[in-house]
Amino acid sequence: MKKREFFVKINFPERLKTLESLAYNLWWVYNNNAKDLFKMIKPELWQETLHNPIEILLSLSEHDLKQLEKDQVFLSRLDSVWNDYIEYIKTPKWFETIRDIEKHGNMQIAYFSAEYGMHESIQSYAGGLGILSGDHFKAASDLGIPFIAVGLLYRNGYFHQYLNSDGWQLETYPYNEFYKMPVVEAKDENGDPLLVEIPSYNSLIKAKIWLVHLGFSRLILLDTDIDDNIPENKIITGKLYDGEPEMRIKQEIVLGIGGVRALKKLGIKPTVFHINEGHPAFAVIERIKDYMVEDGLNLYEAINMVKYSTLFTTHTPVPAGFDVFDNNAIYKHLGPIYNGTPLSIDEVLKIGKVNPYSSSEPFSMAICGVKCSIFRNGVSKLHGKVSRKIFNNLWPNVSEPFVPVGHITNGVHLQTWVADEIKTLFNRYLGENWYLRPYQKSVWSNIHEIPDLELFEAKNILRTRLVEFIRKRTINSINKRGGSYSEIVKANEILNPGILTIGFARRFATYKRGYLLFSDEERLNKILNNPKMPVQIIIAGKAHPKDTEGKEIIKKIYHISRKPEFRDKIVFVEDYDIQVAKYLVRGVDVWLNNPRRPMEASGTSGMKAAINGALNFSILDGWWVEGYKNNNGWSIGAGEEYSDPKYQDFVEGQELYDKLENEIVPLFYAKDRSGLPREWLKMMKNSIFIGCSEFSTSRMVMEYHEKYYTPLHELHNDLSEQNFANLREFINFKNEISNKWHKLRIVKAEIISDNLYMGSTVKFYSEVYTDDLDPNFLKVCVISDTNCPKIEFEDPKFIELDLKESKDGVSIFSKEVRLTCSGKIRFAFGIFPKNRFILNEFEDNLFVWE
Ligand SMILES: *Cc1c(COP(=O)(O)O)cnc(C)c1O
Repeated sequence: MKKREFFVKINFPERLKTLESLAYNLWWVYNNNAKDLFKMIKPELWQETLHNPIEILLSLSEHDLKQLEKDQVFLSRLDSVWNDYIEYIKTPKWFETIRDIEKHGNMQIAYFSAEYGMHESIQSYAGGLGILSGDHFKAASDLGIPFIAVGLLYRNGYFHQYLNSDGWQLETYPYNEFYKMPVVEAKDENGDPLLVEIPSYNSLIKAKIWLVHLGFSRLILLDTDIDDNIPENKIITGKLYDGEPEMRIKQEIVLGIGGVRALKKLGIKPTVFHINEGHPAFAVIERIKDYMVEDGLNLYEAINMVKYSTLFTTHTPVPAGFDVFDNNAIYKHLGPIYNGTPLSIDEVLKIGKVNPYSSSEPFSMAICGVKCSIFRNGVSKLHGKVSRKIFNNLWPNVSEPFVPVGHITNGVHLQTWVADEIKTLFNRYLGENWYLRPYQKSVWSNIHEIPDLELFEAKNILRTRLVEFIRKRTINSINKRGGSYSEIVKANEILNPGILTIGFARRFATYKRGYLLFSDEERLNKILNNPKMPVQIIIAGKAHPKDTEGKEIIKKIYHISRKPEFRDKIVFVEDYDIQVAKYLVRGVDVWLNNPRRPMEASGTSGMKAAINGALNFSILDGWWVEGYKNNNGWSIGAGEEYSDPKYQDFVEGQELYDKLENEIVPLFYAKDRSGLPREWLKMMKNSIFIGCSEFSTSRMVMEYHEKYYTPLHELHNDLSEQNFANLREFINFKNEISNKWHKLRIVKAEIISDNLYMGSTVKFYSEVYTDDLDPNFLKVCVISDTNCPKIEFEDPKFIELDLKESKDGVSIFSKEVRLTCSGKIRFAFGIFPKNRFILNEFEDNLFVWE
């Protein structure tokens, strides 16, 4: 039987057209009046659909539309939301205030990511990486930067989690009906859907281009579930992070290569490419081919052109976290794509390897990303360091602090994550416009003006709402698995809205140590069931479907939570997602995180909790190394790393209980005569202040813009100008110096000084044998580090010496420097290539030390 279907569009009356426009622009996901507007149309359906305005609109009958058209209350609300939206679009954004037409003229940033978490009703994310991409996307629009995101439109996305009666995680996959999602087909001038084509070994892969709008920003999503594709290619954009390498490589080809082709189809010409994690890294391969085919560049030129317009961001703390593909898979899948182009697969393979000539080394997406970008970054200060260590093998003779990988610490989108009750307090005490410039510290300086009582009450409301949400959800899952009536009655009594509530929600990967809090049940029992100072714990999180160890941890916690003494005090909430996260981070008092340092690249859930006034209690790992200030939460440990994991668990588990017993619980219950825990409330305000002023995505995206996007944009334009004249000159320079580099020697290096004390002047002096190499091509430096206790540099500064004279192949460089500090100063003499396109001294592995 051939099944047919057709889709009936709603014919919106003129008066309601703006309603449709609002539903298809994700600006609504963080604007409460807009959400209330959709909700008021059909409150029950709004809940049922996980807050999906398009489903609400699709449910409207002709009669409903007629009613709405006549409903004056509704219409005035609609107009008011529409005005808010227009105001959002019109208000000058940060980018407009810094924009320099000369500098930013044709700037266009393309951001590639495998997942986007924008709202609970749009299931195109798995976890932290996706939420971060979604928040990045929102902040890009808020800041008004020219930004377009690229991703995949998943038919199934990530799994839903439920536990069987033994606490074992089981998975079901959603089926995304695209017509119920805020996506629109991209069409050509004839009104036909736009497709990209990617050759493959069996049959051409076609992917349809969809668009998502959010304020100013757009997101391109690719979908292979179309009739033109053979069945095995239809499911390429099926599940997220599932399946065998064969499926993963196809997905990543559609994301990276298809993504670049889609941009071209849409006539978009990015000047900056941001590759978020390894998954989309094939984008660089496609671009290399494009430069070769369209601009006639040779391979080396093309690689450099791509490199000098690309940023690669890594989120992984261990090399095993990167996707790798064996050489045959690359031949099999990329061969048909680049067959007949000047780009050979042998060359492609070299790009993804640390050692280009190794035949056993697999192709690593991360290595590919790092080698074809000029800027790379980790996602917290500590993770920057971890990443320099991971990628040190690409700069084997460079010591770790010099490896050219930086960091930008993650952030969260405040308007998405801050609870309404807290927003009301912000409006009242910080002024209505707090969200326009969250990156300005001064916006937040009045946090302490919020009266204790009001904050206390807001928190009580949020905690109560969390408890109610969990009761309802627990009852739903009891119903689903056919539980008894008495179970339901009990579920209505779990948790207590008035007691100290600890939240722990994250992926159940082993390094996150979900079990640590449960390692001593007796002690935990005493803490939770202290009659004067009771405590409860709410846990959520998924384990990857193939992670048996993670599932075991969930099962263990589930069983503990079923014991009589813990029944009402420990609850595992199934199916952690954006909605659950919102309730949790807003409602809990303490947000616990105890990963094995340094495995947490950043972590963003703690930031979401902080901006809602929860106090973080966490290992000094990821963002908390920067976020912890002594007055806004607690640390576990002092940043130690251990070689014996069992011993580490013991020590850190003890500290966890100690701090709960001695500091955290008593402080929460230390109420004054008016019944307010003054010290706790003070810490809550500090937590909000630090969270909002330092860890917003606005701050983060501005940093990306200033540190990476703007320089990349300028490099791109500069190098490609006049038919790549500067690129060719730069490459000639690189060839020249790399051919002659081995001849360089530091003949003499000294410090000349009468007296070494603060305020005196020293002269750094160096004679360099340059042979026939132009000394102007050299940057001779003193690298210094003050108060550096270790042999290795930690915070090195470069002082460039001036070229004084040059004769018979020997050049003299020197510089006088006034000493402005005392103590031990370590330094070294070094020579590096000097060119305006050399942004990092160590980038090309060319240097000479004394
Ligand atoms: C914020 C968030 C995450 C990421 O949290 P981490 O602290 O990085 O573990 C994962 N899943 C959901 C649903 C989130 O909202």
